[in-house]
Amino acid sequence: MSTSSLISQDTIIALATSPGANGAIAVIRLSGSEAISLVNQVFKGKDLSKQASHTVHFGTIRDGEQIIDEVLITLFVGPNSYTKENVVEISTHNSKYIIERIIGLLIKKGARAAKAGEFTLRAFLNGGMDLSQAEAVADLIASNSAASHQIAMQQMRGGFSNQLQKLREDLVHFASLIELELDFAEEDVEFANREQLRSLIQEIHQVISKLIRSFEQGNVLKNGVPVVIAGKPNVGKSTLLNALLNEERAIVSDIAGTTRDTIEDEINIHGVTFRFIDTAGIRDTEDVIEAKGVERTREKMKQARLIIYLFDPTQDYIAAVQSQIEEVRSLNIPFVTIINKSDLLSEGERMEYAVLNPIYISAKQGLGIEELKDELLNQVNLSNINTEDVMVTNIRHVEALQHTQEALEKVLYGIDNPITSDFLAMDIRQALQYLGEITGTVTTDDLLENIFSKFCIGK
Ligand code: GDP
Repeated sequence: MSTSSLISQDTIIALATSPGANGAIAVIRLSGSEAISLVNQVFKGKDLSKQASHTVHFGTIRDGEQIIDEVLITLFVGPNSYTKENVVEISTHNSKYIIERIIGLLIKKGARAAKAGEFTLRAFLNGGMDLSQAEAVADLIASNSAASHQIAMQQMRGGFSNQLQKLREDLVHFASLIELELDFAEEDVEFANREQLRSLIQEIHQVISKLIRSFEQGNVLKNGVPVVIAGKPNVGKSTLLNALLNEERAIVSDIAGTTRDTIEDEINIHGVTFRFIDTAGIRDTEDVIEAKGVERTREKMKQARLIIYLFDPTQDYIAAVQSQIEEVRSLNIPFVTIINKSDLLSEGERMEYAVLNPIYISAKQGLGIEELKDELLNQVNLSNINTEDVMVTNIRHVEALQHTQEALEKVLYGIDNPITSDFLAMDIRQALQYLGEITGTVTTDDLLENIFSKFCIGK
Protein backbone atom coordinates (compact mmCIF):
# COMPACT_ATOMS: atom_id res chain seq x y z
CA MET A 1 0.00 0.00 0.00
CA SER A 2 2.92 2.30 0.58
CA THR A 3 2.96 3.18 -3.11
CA SER A 4 -0.25 5.22 -2.91
CA SER A 5 0.17 8.90 -3.72
CA LEU A 6 -2.59 9.55 -1.19
CA ILE A 7 -0.17 8.99 1.65
CA SER A 8 0.64 12.30 3.26
CA GLN A 9 2.85 13.30 6.15
CA ASP A 10 0.72 16.34 7.03
CA THR A 11 -0.92 16.61 10.38
CA ILE A 12 -4.62 17.01 9.66
CA ILE A 13 -7.37 18.65 11.69
CA ALA A 14 -11.18 18.71 11.57
CA LEU A 15 -14.25 19.04 13.72
CA ALA A 16 -15.27 15.45 14.48
CA THR A 17 -18.70 16.23 15.88
CA SER A 18 -21.55 17.51 13.78
CA PRO A 19 -21.21 21.18 12.82
CA GLY A 20 -24.00 23.43 14.03
CA ALA A 21 -25.44 20.82 16.39
CA ASN A 22 -26.93 22.02 19.66
CA GLY A 23 -24.92 19.80 22.00
CA ALA A 24 -22.84 21.09 24.88
CA ILE A 25 -19.52 19.77 23.65
CA ALA A 26 -17.64 19.66 20.36
CA VAL A 27 -14.65 17.48 19.55
CA ILE A 28 -11.83 18.65 17.30
CA ARG A 29 -9.56 15.90 16.07
CA LEU A 30 -5.96 15.98 14.83
CA SER A 31 -3.92 13.14 13.34
CA GLY A 32 -0.29 13.03 12.23
CA SER A 33 3.22 12.90 13.61
CA GLU A 34 3.00 16.54 14.77
CA ALA A 35 -0.47 16.29 16.33
CA ILE A 36 0.75 16.24 19.93
CA SER A 37 3.51 18.83 19.53
CA LEU A 38 1.20 21.28 17.71
CA VAL A 39 -1.47 21.10 20.39
CA ASN A 40 1.21 21.35 23.05
CA GLN A 41 2.16 24.79 21.67
CA VAL A 42 -1.28 26.25 22.40
CA PHE A 43 -2.27 24.20 25.45
CA LYS A 44 -1.64 25.36 28.96
CA GLY A 45 -1.67 22.46 31.40
CA LYS A 46 0.56 19.41 31.56
CA ASP A 47 3.32 18.96 28.97
CA LEU A 48 1.45 16.72 26.52
CA SER A 49 4.63 15.36 24.95
CA LYS A 50 5.41 13.64 28.26
CA GLN A 51 2.02 11.99 28.81
CA ALA A 52 1.05 8.38 28.19
CA SER A 53 -1.28 7.24 25.43
CA HIS A 54 -5.00 7.00 26.21
CA THR A 55 -4.95 9.70 28.88
CA VAL A 56 -7.13 12.79 29.31
CA HIS A 57 -5.86 16.21 30.43
CA PHE A 58 -7.63 19.34 31.54
CA GLY A 59 -6.28 22.79 30.66
CA THR A 60 -6.79 25.84 28.47
CA ILE A 61 -6.21 26.60 24.81
CA ARG A 62 -4.57 30.00 24.41
CA ASP A 63 -3.84 32.31 21.53
CA GLY A 64 -0.91 34.24 23.00
CA GLU A 65 -2.16 35.36 26.38
CA GLN A 66 -5.84 35.12 25.50
CA ILE A 67 -7.72 32.07 26.78
CA ILE A 68 -9.98 30.69 24.04
CA ASP A 69 -11.56 27.87 26.03
CA GLU A 70 -11.14 25.41 28.85
CA VAL A 71 -10.77 22.00 27.26
CA LEU A 72 -10.12 18.32 27.77
CA ILE A 73 -7.36 16.79 25.67
CA THR A 74 -7.44 13.07 24.90
CA LEU A 75 -4.15 11.61 23.70
CA PHE A 76 -3.64 8.57 21.50
CA VAL A 77 0.00 7.91 20.78
CA GLY A 78 0.57 6.13 17.46
CA PRO A 79 0.31 3.35 16.51
CA ASN A 80 -2.33 2.82 19.20
CA SER A 81 -4.94 5.01 17.58
CA TYR A 82 -7.70 4.92 14.97
CA THR A 83 -5.35 6.20 12.24
CA LYS A 84 -2.24 4.47 13.68
CA GLU A 85 -0.70 7.96 13.89
CA ASN A 86 -0.55 10.33 16.85
CA VAL A 87 -4.11 11.46 17.44
CA VAL A 88 -5.31 14.27 19.70
CA GLU A 89 -8.95 14.98 20.44
CA ILE A 90 -9.81 18.34 21.93
CA SER A 91 -13.18 18.53 23.65
CA THR A 92 -14.29 22.15 23.68
CA HIS A 93 -17.51 23.96 24.46
CA ASN A 94 -19.70 23.74 21.40
CA SER A 95 -19.45 27.29 20.12
CA LYS A 96 -18.92 27.92 16.43
CA TYR A 97 -16.68 30.81 17.38
CA ILE A 98 -14.50 28.73 19.70
CA ILE A 99 -14.23 25.89 17.18
CA GLU A 100 -13.18 28.21 14.39
CA ARG A 101 -10.65 29.97 16.60
CA ILE A 102 -9.02 26.73 17.74
CA ILE A 103 -8.92 25.14 14.29
CA GLY A 104 -7.61 28.41 12.80
CA LEU A 105 -4.93 28.64 15.48
CA LEU A 106 -3.70 25.09 14.89
CA ILE A 107 -3.71 25.55 11.13
CA LYS A 108 -1.54 28.64 11.66
CA LYS A 109 0.81 26.45 13.68
CA GLY A 110 1.13 23.99 10.79
CA ALA A 111 -1.86 21.63 10.72
CA ARG A 112 -3.92 21.21 7.53
CA ALA A 113 -7.70 20.99 7.23
CA ALA A 114 -8.63 17.33 6.70
CA LYS A 115 -10.44 16.23 3.58
CA ALA A 116 -13.63 14.15 3.70
CA GLY A 117 -12.90 10.69 5.09
CA GLU A 118 -9.19 11.42 5.49
CA PHE A 119 -8.92 10.02 9.02
CA THR A 120 -10.43 6.73 7.91
CA LEU A 121 -8.33 6.77 4.72
CA ARG A 122 -5.25 6.97 6.92
CA ALA A 123 -6.54 4.15 9.10
CA PHE A 124 -6.79 2.07 5.92
CA LEU A 125 -3.44 3.14 4.41
CA ASN A 126 -1.67 2.51 7.70
CA GLY A 127 -3.12 -0.99 7.97
CA GLY A 128 -5.59 -0.31 10.75
CA MET A 129 -8.48 -1.78 8.78
CA ASP A 130 -9.14 -3.12 5.33
CA LEU A 131 -11.19 -1.37 2.71
CA SER A 132 -14.49 -3.12 3.34
CA GLN A 133 -14.15 -2.28 7.03
CA ALA A 134 -13.46 1.36 6.19
CA GLU A 135 -16.56 1.43 4.01
CA ALA A 136 -18.53 -0.10 6.87
CA VAL A 137 -17.59 2.90 9.02
CA ALA A 138 -19.50 5.13 6.59
CA ASP A 139 -22.43 2.70 6.61
CA LEU A 140 -22.44 2.63 10.38
CA ILE A 141 -22.68 6.42 10.56
CA ALA A 142 -25.53 6.36 8.03
CA SER A 143 -27.38 3.47 9.66
CA ASN A 144 -30.89 4.32 10.78
CA SER A 145 -32.45 1.00 11.64
CA ALA A 146 -31.54 -1.96 13.82
CA ALA A 147 -30.91 -4.11 10.75
CA SER A 148 -28.66 -1.69 8.86
CA HIS A 149 -26.77 -0.98 12.07
CA GLN A 150 -26.12 -4.63 12.72
CA ILE A 151 -24.90 -5.35 9.21
CA ALA A 152 -22.54 -2.36 9.22
CA MET A 153 -21.22 -3.26 12.66
CA GLN A 154 -20.62 -6.82 11.58
CA GLN A 155 -18.75 -5.68 8.46
CA MET A 156 -16.71 -3.13 10.39
CA ARG A 157 -15.61 -5.78 12.83
CA GLY A 158 -14.29 -7.76 9.90
CA GLY A 159 -16.79 -10.60 9.42
CA PHE A 160 -17.01 -10.09 5.70
CA SER A 161 -13.27 -9.55 5.23
CA ASN A 162 -12.31 -12.56 7.31
CA GLN A 163 -14.34 -14.83 5.15
CA LEU A 164 -12.77 -13.46 1.97
CA GLN A 165 -9.29 -13.51 3.44
CA LYS A 166 -9.55 -17.22 4.12
CA LEU A 167 -10.65 -17.88 0.52
CA ARG A 168 -7.83 -15.76 -0.83
CA GLU A 169 -5.23 -17.68 1.15
CA ASP A 170 -6.40 -21.02 -0.20
CA LEU A 171 -6.30 -19.67 -3.73
CA VAL A 172 -2.89 -18.08 -3.32
CA HIS A 173 -1.59 -21.46 -2.21
CA PHE A 174 -2.74 -23.09 -5.44
CA ALA A 175 -1.58 -20.23 -7.62
CA SER A 176 1.92 -20.60 -6.24
CA LEU A 177 1.94 -24.38 -6.72
CA ILE A 178 0.93 -23.94 -10.32
CA GLU A 179 3.50 -21.22 -10.84
CA LEU A 180 6.06 -23.61 -9.45
CA GLU A 181 5.14 -26.04 -12.20
CA LEU A 182 6.11 -23.38 -14.72
CA ASP A 183 9.69 -23.51 -13.41
CA PHE A 184 9.77 -27.21 -14.17
CA ALA A 185 7.94 -26.98 -17.48
CA GLU A 186 10.37 -29.33 -19.23
CA GLU A 187 9.81 -32.09 -16.71
CA ASP A 188 6.02 -32.14 -17.05
CA VAL A 189 5.28 -32.38 -13.33
CA GLU A 190 2.07 -31.45 -11.52
CA PHE A 191 2.53 -30.01 -8.06
CA ALA A 192 -1.01 -28.79 -7.87
CA ASN A 193 -3.41 -31.69 -7.75
CA ARG A 194 -6.07 -30.80 -10.31
CA GLU A 195 -8.82 -32.66 -8.47
CA GLN A 196 -8.09 -30.78 -5.26
CA LEU A 197 -7.93 -27.53 -7.17
CA ARG A 198 -11.28 -28.26 -8.76
CA SER A 199 -12.98 -28.98 -5.46
CA LEU A 200 -11.44 -25.87 -3.90
CA ILE A 201 -12.63 -23.70 -6.78
CA GLN A 202 -16.10 -25.22 -6.53
CA GLU A 203 -16.18 -24.56 -2.82
CA ILE A 204 -15.13 -20.94 -3.29
CA HIS A 205 -17.63 -20.55 -6.09
CA GLN A 206 -20.39 -21.68 -3.76
CA VAL A 207 -19.40 -19.32 -0.97
CA ILE A 208 -19.22 -16.39 -3.38
CA SER A 209 -22.61 -17.29 -4.88
CA LYS A 210 -24.06 -17.12 -1.40
CA LEU A 211 -22.45 -13.73 -0.81
CA ILE A 212 -23.81 -12.43 -4.11
CA ARG A 213 -27.28 -13.70 -3.23
CA SER A 214 -27.06 -12.03 0.16
CA PHE A 215 -26.77 -8.69 -1.61
CA GLU A 216 -30.41 -8.45 -2.52
CA GLN A 217 -31.50 -8.85 1.07
CA GLY A 218 -28.50 -7.01 2.48
CA ASN A 219 -29.25 -4.07 0.24
CA VAL A 220 -32.88 -4.07 1.30
CA LEU A 221 -31.92 -4.09 4.96
CA LYS A 222 -29.44 -1.29 4.44
CA ASN A 223 -31.43 0.99 2.17
CA GLY A 224 -34.99 0.02 2.97
CA VAL A 225 -37.61 -1.97 1.11
CA PRO A 226 -39.00 0.08 -1.79
CA VAL A 227 -42.80 0.03 -1.51
CA VAL A 228 -45.44 1.46 -3.80
CA ILE A 229 -48.99 2.21 -2.72
CA ALA A 230 -51.14 1.76 -5.80
CA GLY A 231 -54.81 1.79 -6.69
CA LYS A 232 -57.33 3.86 -8.59
CA PRO A 233 -57.90 7.54 -7.79
CA ASN A 234 -59.78 8.18 -4.55
CA VAL A 235 -59.33 4.71 -3.07
CA GLY A 236 -57.48 6.34 -0.17
CA LYS A 237 -53.78 6.04 -1.08
CA SER A 238 -52.73 9.35 0.31
CA THR A 239 -54.85 8.88 3.44
CA LEU A 240 -53.12 5.56 4.05
CA LEU A 241 -49.67 6.99 3.40
CA ASN A 242 -50.33 9.74 5.89
CA ALA A 243 -51.70 7.29 8.44
CA LEU A 244 -48.53 5.19 8.20
CA LEU A 245 -46.15 8.14 8.23
CA ASN A 246 -47.92 10.16 10.88
CA GLU A 247 -47.97 7.29 13.28
CA GLU A 248 -44.26 6.88 12.69
CA ARG A 249 -43.59 10.58 13.19
CA ALA A 250 -45.61 10.57 16.37
CA ILE A 251 -43.62 7.62 17.71
CA VAL A 252 -40.31 9.14 16.80
CA SER A 253 -41.03 12.64 18.02
CA ASP A 254 -41.76 11.16 21.44
CA ILE A 255 -38.04 10.53 21.73
CA ALA A 256 -36.63 13.82 22.91
CA GLY A 257 -34.33 15.59 20.52
CA THR A 258 -35.06 13.51 17.43
CA THR A 259 -36.45 14.90 14.23
CA ARG A 260 -37.26 13.19 10.99
CA ASP A 261 -36.52 16.11 8.75
CA THR A 262 -34.02 14.17 6.71
CA ILE A 263 -35.90 10.88 6.41
CA GLU A 264 -38.90 11.44 4.23
CA ASP A 265 -41.54 8.84 3.58
CA GLU A 266 -39.94 5.96 5.43
CA ILE A 267 -41.31 3.83 8.19
CA ASN A 268 -39.53 1.41 10.45
CA ILE A 269 -41.29 -1.84 11.32
CA HIS A 270 -39.45 -3.98 13.85
CA GLY A 271 -36.06 -2.72 12.70
CA VAL A 272 -36.77 -2.97 8.96
CA THR A 273 -37.09 0.21 6.92
CA PHE A 274 -39.83 0.49 4.31
CA ARG A 275 -39.33 3.30 1.85
CA PHE A 276 -42.41 4.58 0.02
CA ILE A 277 -41.46 5.53 -3.51
CA ASP A 278 -43.06 8.09 -5.74
CA THR A 279 -45.17 9.50 -2.97
CA ALA A 280 -45.15 12.83 -4.78
CA GLY A 281 -47.34 11.13 -7.40
CA ILE A 282 -49.78 10.05 -4.72
CA ARG A 283 -50.06 13.47 -3.16
CA ASP A 284 -50.36 15.20 -6.49
CA THR A 285 -54.08 15.12 -7.16
CA GLU A 286 -53.51 16.31 -10.75
CA ASP A 287 -52.15 12.83 -11.40
CA VAL A 288 -55.57 11.61 -12.46
CA ILE A 289 -55.26 12.03 -16.24
CA GLU A 290 -56.63 8.59 -16.98
CA ALA A 291 -54.83 6.82 -19.83
CA LYS A 292 -51.42 8.21 -18.94
CA GLY A 293 -52.04 7.66 -15.27
CA VAL A 294 -52.47 3.91 -15.71
CA GLU A 295 -49.22 3.56 -17.66
CA ARG A 296 -47.37 5.60 -15.09
CA THR A 297 -48.75 3.51 -12.25
CA ARG A 298 -47.45 0.37 -13.95
CA GLU A 299 -43.98 1.88 -14.35
CA LYS A 300 -44.01 2.96 -10.75
CA MET A 301 -45.07 -0.46 -9.52
CA LYS A 302 -42.18 -2.10 -11.36
CA GLN A 303 -39.68 -0.19 -9.24
CA ALA A 304 -41.13 -1.62 -6.07
CA ARG A 305 -40.10 -4.69 -4.17
CA LEU A 306 -43.49 -4.75 -2.59
CA ILE A 307 -46.84 -3.34 -3.70
CA ILE A 308 -49.69 -2.29 -1.47
CA TYR A 309 -52.74 -2.47 -3.72
CA LEU A 310 -55.73 -0.60 -2.44
CA PHE A 311 -59.41 -1.03 -3.34
CA ASP A 312 -62.39 1.04 -2.44
CA PRO A 313 -65.37 -1.35 -2.15
CA THR A 314 -67.81 1.54 -2.49
CA GLN A 315 -66.32 2.28 -5.89
CA ASP A 316 -65.49 -1.14 -7.38
CA TYR A 317 -67.40 -4.36 -7.51
CA ILE A 318 -65.67 -7.63 -6.79
CA ALA A 319 -65.32 -8.56 -10.49
CA ALA A 320 -63.49 -5.30 -11.20
CA VAL A 321 -61.30 -5.85 -8.17
CA GLN A 322 -60.45 -9.34 -9.34
CA SER A 323 -59.39 -8.21 -12.78
CA GLN A 324 -57.14 -5.54 -11.28
CA ILE A 325 -55.57 -8.14 -9.03
CA GLU A 326 -54.77 -10.31 -12.04
CA GLU A 327 -52.99 -7.40 -13.63
CA VAL A 328 -50.92 -6.71 -10.53
CA ARG A 329 -50.09 -10.38 -10.22
CA SER A 330 -48.65 -10.37 -13.74
CA LEU A 331 -45.88 -8.04 -12.55
CA ASN A 332 -44.47 -10.83 -10.40
CA ILE A 333 -43.80 -8.57 -7.45
CA PRO A 334 -45.10 -9.45 -3.99
CA PHE A 335 -48.27 -7.51 -3.24
CA VAL A 336 -50.71 -7.03 -0.43
CA THR A 337 -54.40 -6.75 -1.23
CA ILE A 338 -56.11 -4.09 0.84
CA ILE A 339 -59.79 -3.31 1.09
CA ASN A 340 -59.94 0.26 2.36
CA LYS A 341 -62.87 2.18 3.81
CA SER A 342 -63.92 -0.87 5.81
CA ASP A 343 -65.79 1.56 8.07
CA LEU A 344 -68.37 1.85 5.28
CA LEU A 345 -68.82 -1.92 4.86
CA SER A 346 -71.46 -4.07 6.48
CA GLU A 347 -70.53 -7.50 7.76
CA GLY A 348 -72.26 -9.09 4.75
CA GLU A 349 -70.40 -6.90 2.27
CA ARG A 350 -67.15 -7.85 3.97
CA MET A 351 -67.88 -11.53 3.37
CA GLU A 352 -68.13 -10.89 -0.36
CA TYR A 353 -64.50 -9.84 -0.53
CA ALA A 354 -63.20 -12.63 1.69
CA VAL A 355 -62.32 -14.76 -1.37
CA LEU A 356 -59.55 -12.24 -2.12
CA ASN A 357 -58.03 -12.85 1.27
CA PRO A 358 -57.55 -9.14 1.76
CA ILE A 359 -56.63 -7.05 4.76
CA TYR A 360 -59.48 -4.75 5.73
CA ILE A 361 -58.45 -1.32 6.83
CA SER A 362 -59.88 2.10 7.34
CA ALA A 363 -57.08 4.48 6.49
CA LYS A 364 -59.19 7.36 7.68
CA GLN A 365 -59.97 5.88 11.08
CA GLY A 366 -56.65 4.10 11.49
CA LEU A 367 -58.19 0.62 11.65
CA GLY A 368 -56.24 -2.47 10.55
CA ILE A 369 -52.95 -0.57 10.23
CA GLU A 370 -51.09 -2.90 12.60
CA GLU A 371 -52.27 -5.92 10.68
CA LEU A 372 -51.09 -4.28 7.47
CA LYS A 373 -47.68 -3.66 8.98
CA ASP A 374 -47.36 -7.27 10.08
CA GLU A 375 -48.23 -8.35 6.56
CA LEU A 376 -45.58 -6.02 5.07
CA LEU A 377 -42.93 -7.64 7.24
CA ASN A 378 -44.27 -11.04 6.38
CA GLN A 379 -44.12 -10.34 2.64
CA VAL A 380 -40.47 -9.32 2.52
CA ASN A 381 -39.79 -12.53 4.37
CA LEU A 382 -36.92 -11.18 6.39
CA SER A 383 -37.60 -13.43 9.31
CA ASN A 384 -35.36 -16.11 7.84
CA ILE A 385 -32.46 -13.72 7.43
CA ASN A 386 -29.86 -13.97 10.10
CA THR A 387 -28.16 -10.60 10.27
CA GLU A 388 -25.29 -12.33 12.03
CA ASP A 389 -24.54 -13.98 8.71
CA VAL A 390 -22.04 -12.35 6.45
CA MET A 391 -24.01 -10.10 4.19
CA VAL A 392 -22.93 -8.01 1.22
CA THR A 393 -24.52 -4.57 1.06
CA ASN A 394 -22.15 -2.71 -1.20
CA ILE A 395 -22.59 -2.64 -4.98
CA ARG A 396 -18.83 -2.30 -5.47
CA HIS A 397 -18.31 -5.54 -3.57
CA VAL A 398 -20.96 -7.38 -5.55
CA GLU A 399 -19.37 -6.36 -8.81
CA ALA A 400 -15.97 -7.56 -7.66
CA LEU A 401 -17.53 -10.84 -6.50
CA GLN A 402 -19.21 -11.31 -9.87
CA HIS A 403 -15.90 -10.74 -11.64
CA THR A 404 -14.24 -13.22 -9.29
CA GLN A 405 -16.92 -15.72 -10.16
CA GLU A 406 -16.28 -15.33 -13.91
CA ALA A 407 -12.55 -15.83 -13.38
CA LEU A 408 -13.20 -18.94 -11.28
CA GLU A 409 -15.41 -20.36 -14.01
CA LYS A 410 -12.53 -19.90 -16.43
CA VAL A 411 -10.26 -21.80 -14.06
CA LEU A 412 -12.75 -24.66 -13.91
CA TYR A 413 -12.95 -24.67 -17.68
CA GLY A 414 -9.15 -24.73 -17.77
CA ILE A 415 -9.01 -27.78 -15.53
CA ASP A 416 -11.56 -29.71 -17.57
CA ASN A 417 -10.15 -28.73 -20.95
CA PRO A 418 -6.45 -29.09 -20.37
CA ILE A 419 -4.73 -25.78 -20.96
CA THR A 420 -1.15 -25.01 -20.04
CA SER A 421 -0.30 -24.19 -16.44
CA ASP A 422 0.59 -20.60 -17.29
CA PHE A 423 -2.94 -19.86 -18.50
CA LEU A 424 -4.42 -21.57 -15.47
CA ALA A 425 -2.19 -19.51 -13.20
CA MET A 426 -3.26 -16.36 -15.00
CA ASP A 427 -6.96 -17.06 -14.42
CA ILE A 428 -6.36 -17.77 -10.75
CA ARG A 429 -4.37 -14.54 -10.42
CA GLN A 430 -7.28 -12.73 -12.05
CA ALA A 431 -9.69 -14.13 -9.47
CA LEU A 432 -7.30 -13.11 -6.70
CA GLN A 433 -7.11 -9.61 -8.13
CA TYR A 434 -10.90 -9.15 -7.97
CA LEU A 435 -11.13 -10.58 -4.46
CA GLY A 436 -8.34 -8.23 -3.41
CA GLU A 437 -10.27 -5.23 -4.69
CA ILE A 438 -12.89 -5.78 -2.02
CA THR A 439 -10.58 -5.84 0.96
CA GLY A 440 -8.20 -3.32 -0.60
CA THR A 441 -5.28 -5.73 -0.98
CA VAL A 442 -5.36 -4.60 -4.60
CA THR A 443 -6.45 -1.04 -5.20
CA THR A 444 -5.95 2.22 -7.09
CA ASP A 445 -5.89 5.82 -5.92
CA ASP A 446 -8.94 6.62 -8.04
CA LEU A 447 -10.95 3.95 -6.27
CA LEU A 448 -9.81 5.17 -2.85
CA GLU A 449 -10.60 8.79 -3.62
CA ASN A 450 -14.00 7.78 -4.87
CA ILE A 451 -14.78 5.81 -1.71
CA PHE A 452 -13.44 8.26 0.85
CA SER A 453 -14.82 11.41 -0.75
CA LYS A 454 -18.28 10.14 0.23
CA PHE A 455 -17.39 10.27 3.92
CA CYS A 456 -18.08 13.27 6.06
CA ILE A 457 -15.23 15.57 7.02
CA GLY A 458 -13.84 14.70 10.42
CA LYS A 459 -14.33 10.96 9.95
P1 GDP B 1 -56.23 8.73 -3.28
O1 GDP B 1 -56.67 9.48 -4.51
O2 GDP B 1 -56.19 7.28 -3.55
O3 GDP B 1 -54.94 9.24 -2.70
O4 GDP B 1 -57.37 8.91 -2.20
P2 GDP B 1 -57.43 9.89 -0.93
O5 GDP B 1 -56.53 9.43 0.14
O6 GDP B 1 -57.28 11.28 -1.39
O7 GDP B 1 -58.90 9.62 -0.42
C1 GDP B 1 -60.05 9.85 -1.25
C2 GDP B 1 -61.24 10.11 -0.36
O8 GDP B 1 -61.56 8.94 0.38
C3 GDP B 1 -61.00 11.21 0.66
O9 GDP B 1 -62.18 11.98 0.77
C4 GDP B 1 -60.75 10.44 1.94
O10 GDP B 1 -61.12 11.17 3.10
C5 GDP B 1 -61.62 9.23 1.77
N1 GDP B 1 -61.12 8.09 2.51
C6 GDP B 1 -59.85 7.58 2.51
N2 GDP B 1 -59.76 6.51 3.34
C7 GDP B 1 -60.99 6.35 3.87
C8 GDP B 1 -61.53 5.39 4.80
O11 GDP B 1 -60.86 4.49 5.31
N3 GDP B 1 -62.85 5.50 5.10
C9 GDP B 1 -63.64 6.49 4.57
N4 GDP B 1 -64.90 6.53 4.91
N5 GDP B 1 -63.16 7.39 3.70
C10 GDP B 1 -61.85 7.33 3.35
